[in-house]
Amino acid sequence: MGFEAGADFRVGREAATEFNEDLGLAASDHQTLGSSIMLTARKYESPQPFVAPLWVRRFEKSEFKLRPIDSYEYGYWWAEWGGQLDTIKDNAVIRHELLRIALGIWDYVKNSGEHPGSSHWALDWVGAVPGKRESRRFLGPHVLKQGVLLQGTRFEDAVAYGGWPLDLHPPSGIDAVEEAPCRHIHLDGLYTIPLRCLYSRNVRNLFFAGRNISATHVAFASTRVMATCAVMGQAVGTAAALASAARSREIAAHFIPAEMMRLQQRLLRDDAFLLDIKNSDPRDLARQATVSASTQSKEGAAAQVTDGVTRPLPSRLGSWADDGLHRWASTALPAWIELTWLASQQIQEIHFTFDSGLERELTLSAHDATNDKVVRAPQPELVQAYEILLDDVVVCSVSQNLLRKRIHRLENPVTASRLRLRVLATHGIDHARVFEIRAYAP
Ligand SMILES: Cc1cc2nc3c(=O)[nH]c(=O)nc-3n(C[C@H](O)[C@H](O)[C@H](O)COP(=O)(O)OP(=O)(O)OC[C@H]3O[C@@H](n4cnc5c(N)ncnc54)[C@H](O)[C@@H]3O)c2cc1C
Repeated sequence: MGFEAGADFRVGREAATEFNEDLGLAASDHQTLGSSIMLTARKYESPQPFVAPLWVRRFEKSEFKLRPIDSYEYGYWWAEWGGQLDTIKDNAVIRHELLRIALGIWDYVKNSGEHPGSSHWALDWVGAVPGKRESRRFLGPHVLKQGVLLQGTRFEDAVAYGGWPLDLHPPSGIDAVEEAPCRHIHLDGLYTIPLRCLYSRNVRNLFFAGRNISATHVAFASTRVMATCAVMGQAVGTAAALASAARSREIAAHFIPAEMMRLQQRLLRDDAFLLDIKNSDPRDLARQATVSASTQSKEGAAAQVTDGVTRPLPSRLGSWADDGLHRWASTALPAWIELTWLASQQIQEIHFTFDSGLERELTLSAHDATNDKVVRAPQPELVQAYEILLDDVVVCSVSQNLLRKRIHRLENPVTASRLRLRVLATHGIDHARVFEIRAYAP
């Protein structure tokens, strides 16, 4: 849509001099990261022969010296090719070659004699279209570049963040036998993504999020990963919704600079994370309350539920991170935590952010090594059963919570000077953990 609308974009790799990037090239080119066709396989009780179609690529052992075949169930991300072509216009050519490559690797696995352990494995699924790593990058008023990622720059109009290494691949992928399939340049911490990289510099009201944002090829090598793409999507969706509610014709301009804080605070309220930006929502009544609890651990002071941060900030995230846990932790169950106001408040909406073990990988994958680390059940830290009391009256009770962020909107506002969360059970651990409590008037 951006292309059809005439939005400015670029394709390929920049010269080092253009954005002062030492990972840039001596001269710019039009090459990109390649695409891949993935496959999945399954182990059977009996031997599973594989007869390759005549048209597959035939591989030699030497071609895999930098591309280890260390599992069979989830294909090979390094089965990459086509970055030297136009990944949009030449997609059909790339697709055919990738299919030759994917099935050629499987033929090698099954029939070269180098992988006897694969004898009982058979293909389960083969991708029909290439997984595309890179194509156009649209241009916004700002272009994210290598330096700001390495320095962890915090932009005033930050609406998303990233932290994946600069993950560069040779465009010709598997043909580059002598080159490693990826090069990771690790970052010292997280970096921010400004809203100015997420809308067009020349087409009004056109946002973008994902691998198509305004970034150099080198910066894109980090921003392109799924979780980073997803938080940009939330930022852009929220920005568009706020602007639309305000009936602003000029969505992007509307946010700079006066409305930026409102957008950032809305994102935090919806459980987004923004580096070094805390909850300062003037409508949140919890911020004026005194906090007490039945018990609290040494590092889990009750008052942390209103400190404006909703996750631990280990110092490895960056110089701004304070190593704090930012959550209330009781020492036993059941447990309660209470907000008290000097004067009664009208309360209609109550928010909780529970601990869901964000530090542990939780991802759906066909890869066994990834799945081995995943707790395939509600995360043990998560609060399972709880009650909400306003001036000692139970207004809500939940027995099977599965969510980190819960919002309870009461049918009618209640006037009260005390709000208590009573935690009855978790999904595993022996104490309650809560990152944040918010309360709102009608
Ligand atoms: C093989 C491979 C392995 C990867 N491994 C990882 C990994 O381990 N971890 C990780 O985080 N990231 C990984 N990535 C990168 C990551 O998956 C992508 O960068 C990311 O998913 C891009 O998301 P996106 O929403 O920007 O683009 P896409 O996911 O490509 O979404 C764009 C969507 O737009 C649709 N579309 C295109 N044109 C039109 C049109 N004209 N009209 C309507 N719809 C259209 C497409 O069909 C597509 O659904 C990998 C990528 C590949 C290819």
